[in-house]
Order: sequence, then C-alpha cells, then structure tokens
Amino acid sequence: MPSYVSHAIQASNVLDKVYKDKQIFIEPDRDAMKTFAMLYDSPHSIKDLNNHDQHAKDLILKIAQIIKERKLFVDSETISLLYGHICHFAFDAKVHPYINHLAARTKERKLSPVSNHLLMELYLDEYLSKQLYKCDTLHLGCDFLGRADLHNPNIVDTVNDAYKTIYDYDKMIRYYRRFQCLINDANLLKKLTHKQLADLFLFKHFLDKNNISVERITNVYHNQWLDSSDSFMDLYHQSLTLSQELINLVNKFIFQGKSFTLISDKFPTISIDTGQKIYTK
Ligand SMILES: [Zn+2]
Ligand SMILES: [Zn+2]
Repeated sequence: MPSYVSHAIQASNVLDKVYKDKQIFIEPDRDAMKTFAMLYDSPHSIKDLNNHDQHAKDLILKIAQIIKERKLFVDSETISLLYGHICHFAFDAKVHPYINHLAARTKERKLSPVSNHLLMELYLDEYLSKQLYKCDTLHLGCDFLGRADLHNPNIVDTVNDAYKTIYDYDKMIRYYRRFQCLINDANLLKKLTHKQLADLFLFKHFLDKNNISVERITNVYHNQWLDSSDSFMDLYHQSLTLSQELINLVNKFIFQGKSFTLISDKFPTISIDTGQKIYTK
C-alpha cells in the first residue's frame, strides 16, 4: 500500500489483536508503531533503494537481532520499530498480489505521474478508513498518524546499523533524514490527504476509462482473481493475522530463547512488492 494512512490503521489494529491475545512481553508504543509502519514506504522515492525487494525479510530479522543483542527491547519505541516494519511487510505482502492483478488489467494513463496501482490504493485508503472508523482519512485527524522520537539513540542506532548492514550506508542516511522531515511535519496528514483527494479526481477518470467499478476494486462480491476470491477486506484481515504470527515469531527469538535459525526458517521469503515467493540461491 502506498498510503501512510492505511499502514497506520493496520498497525493500530494489529496492536489491538496482540493485546487481546495477551502476546505482549514489552508493551510497544502505539504511536511509534503506527509511525514506523507508515514510514517503511518512504525509501521508494529514493532511487536504487527499494526496501520492498528480497531484502525485506533480512532487514526485519536484522532489526530483531540488534534489539536482542543490545537488550533494546526494554525501550517501547525500539520494539515498536520492529513491530511496525512487520505490520508493513504483512499488509503489503497480502494486498499487493490483488492490486497488481487489477492494475495489469487496466490501461496505463500516459500523462499522469500517478500509476493505476497507486490510484486504486488511494481509493482503498478512504475505503478502509470509512469501513473501520466511519470517516474519511482527513477526519481521522493529524494525531492519528502517531509519532516517534527519531532522536532516541536506540532508534537512531538500530535504524543505522540494520539498514547499513542490508543496504548501503549513504542511501540509508538519506532515507533516515526523509523519515525525520516527514514525522516532524505536523501537517503531514492534511498534506497527504489533500494530495490524495486531488489524486482521487484522476481516479474517477480511471474508473470510466477502464469501465471498472469501485465494487470490483474492493471485490465485495468476491469475484475470482488468480486462485482466490478474497475481497480487499478479507486480505486486510489476513494481514492482521500474518502480522500477529510474525510478531509472535520474533518474540520467541527475543524473549523466549528460540534460535535465530528457527525464526529465520519460519519467516516467509516473500516479496512485499508482489506477495510472491522469492527463490534465493
Ligand atoms: Zn502498492
Ligand atoms: Zn509498502
């Protein structure tokens, strides 16, 4: 999902599930978890750094290793960094196969910088907000997007060292600066949603041109796609379950003495761009 808002909503709902099932060892910080789930998308805009590629699993497991080795789990913001990344991974991996499937069946518009993929996701943001909170994203309020102290030395060190190991150092620093600018911007949600509303005008043209309905995009009538008939909301709920499973898995490593090999073997090797299995040599 491109949207910061959907990722914030999803992470918050994952945390509700985690609390309900009493899977907590150290209480994460809800605001920080939402923030870290959202901002995992920002490096997309940095050329050559695509953290949605095959390294997503490695990055998440590296963050878990650093947290365990340095006992950073006592810091609720740092554990939220890990859980936020997991939420983003699970949501994208579940929903992207469907979005990609739809996008492949639509005509690309030549003049717009906004892809069909992105337009559909922007609509789904609004849809998700209305389904769960009965209001559009603008009315969720700026505070909804959460906040995190990006000067927290534990966060700085974990982000630096994990991204540096998996990617390369300079790009990681640029990513992190962007991270800070975004989150320090109090009007972020307003800006995002105003931009989204503007993009939604394009969306109407997109629907007409492709003769596609919003019901088809949300798949409320369970049309067949690939080997599934899941709706967007089905996929959303599956992403909550997957997030919860992966949080349980990293908790086993961090708090319950399970080996790194065990969790690494169980962590799915899937691309969060496509949801498909990645075959590594
Ligand atoms: Zn997407
Ligand atoms: Zn993403």
